Amino acid sequence: MKWTSKGYENIICNKNISETTKFCIYGAGKLGGDLYKTLKHYDMFFCFIDNNHSIQEKGYKNEAVISENEYFKKEIKYPVIICASDKNTLLIESDLKNRGLIHNKNYYICREFTDKLLPIIAYKFFNETFMSLSQICVTERCTLRCKKCAHGCYNVPITKDDMTLEQVKKSADIFFSKVDYIQEFVLIGGEPLLYKYLTDAVEYIGSKYRNQMSVFSITSNGTITPSKDLLEKCKEYGVLFRISNYSGTISKLELQYEKLRKLFITNNVEFRISRKEHEWMDYGFDYYKRECDNEQLINVFDACGTPCHEIRENKFYYCVMARSVADNLSVNVGKEDYLDFEKLSGDNWRRELLEFIMGYSEKGYLDMCRYCHGAESYEYPIPAAEQL
Ligand code: SF4
Ligand code: SF4
Repeated sequence: MKWTSKGYENIICNKNISETTKFCIYGAGKLGGDLYKTLKHYDMFFCFIDNNHSIQEKGYKNEAVISENEYFKKEIKYPVIICASDKNTLLIESDLKNRGLIHNKNYYICREFTDKLLPIIAYKFFNETFMSLSQICVTERCTLRCKKCAHGCYNVPITKDDMTLEQVKKSADIFFSKVDYIQEFVLIGGEPLLYKYLTDAVEYIGSKYRNQMSVFSITSNGTITPSKDLLEKCKEYGVLFRISNYSGTISKLELQYEKLRKLFITNNVEFRISRKEHEWMDYGFDYYKRECDNEQLINVFDACGTPCHEIRENKFYYCVMARSVADNLSVNVGKEDYLDFEKLSGDNWRRELLEFIMGYSEKGYLDMCRYCHGAESYEYPIPAAEQL
């Protein structure tokens, strides 16, 4: 969206939600657990819903877990947020609809809730800035050379300079001076375990800002075994290792993932190894050019709504892919497409930042959107992690 009245856009219009609204999380698994911490932060958690009997009996961290039928017997039915896999979300959603609940009124899908509704709730009722996801790309170098890396890392020489530790610290300091709470803050690459100061970065960010995030994570391709020091710091600050699983394409990684699994368990470090990735979407950054006017580019940007934001010192990028592809493929596109956190000031800065998170900007699009399939990328499937 293009700013027409910066700082005063009409986005605060959720009549159903009041300061005292609570939410029920449907799904007492890992995704539900991540959202639980955030809802507790805002004192908006009511209960879990899960039809698994053993989970109901055990409860979740002393919280009640009720069945869907029990939920429907309650006199006051707080809105439900579905936190489940894509497949289960569809099943639960159709069930809730059949029982009369209305999307975006009585129930929400987790990502829609954290991307689009919770930032508004946090601003309106708590005068806080909330966002769902942001990352620091500590290095652009990688141990793999995936043909269609959405960050263009295949083009980065292994000798390229990374961010300095001072730059990483500055990025975190500026970010957390403006953002009160985030669902997930990620250290990413390239391959972040190539970054010489990763342990120091975890220590610095963990010690200063851990209570401003629900999930603090490192996303890795799993090719490098973390050091003892790094594992210790990850345990201390509750860092989640997300390992992308490319063993469907690179079969020798299977053994490495097994080794990592044991290592994380032994060291009591939280981890999630994804399911084997077989297919990616091709964003088209390396060959595509959209012939359209600026109004149509605004539509492309709005339809995309990527949650993958990036902080890089004072520069906050709405789309980490747009920034990294421009740098890593050395294309002169969208160099000015960021919000300068150091220039956010005055009485209304929090509102301007909220609008930016919701997709408003001076142009209403990023220059890189012209070179990207955006929301249509799923129509361009490619094999996952194919190597150059
Ligand atoms: S997709 Fe991931 S693993 Fe592959 S080159 Fe890019 S950063 Fe590295
Ligand atoms: S359409 Fe624009 S915002 Fe979306 S992924 Fe592409 S470059 Fe990023």
